[in-house]
Amino acid sequence: MTCLFCKIIRGEIPATIVYEDEEFLAFKDINPIDKVHVLIIPKIHTESLLACNEAHQSMLGKMLLLGSKIAQEQGLVGFRTMINSGSKGGQEVFHIHFHIYGGSDKLAKI
Ligand code: 5GP
Ligand code: ZN
Repeated sequence: MTCLFCKIIRGEIPATIVYEDEEFLAFKDINPIDKVHVLIIPKIHTESLLACNEAHQSMLGKMLLLGSKIAQEQGLVGFRTMINSGSKGGQEVFHIHFHIYGGSDKLAKI
């Protein structure tokens, strides 16, 4: 598996991990666009939201709730969630991930 985020899950590439359980991993974005910028990924490789269907419903719901929990644990009282889907949607790493970011007075947009 050459997927970058699968390599992070396997510990082959270092990352600053902020949360881990059996299903999910959350780590700091290497190029943060805000004071706090965390990526949340499922441990099972899934390319993109474009590749998801009803079978992924539970995973997606859990990820969203986990994002809110992690954001609050990181000290955020408000945050943005971003999911880039497909190359035309700005996705660069093809392992589904939620961006959770915030902390500045002026919110970053990408
Ligand atoms: P995308 O554009 O696919 O939604 O976001 C990919 C994100 O992954 C980018 O924000 C980028 O900074 C981050 N990223 C890329 N390579 C690495 C890496 O090796 N480690 C970490 N922690 N983040 C990465
Ligand atoms: Zn992967």
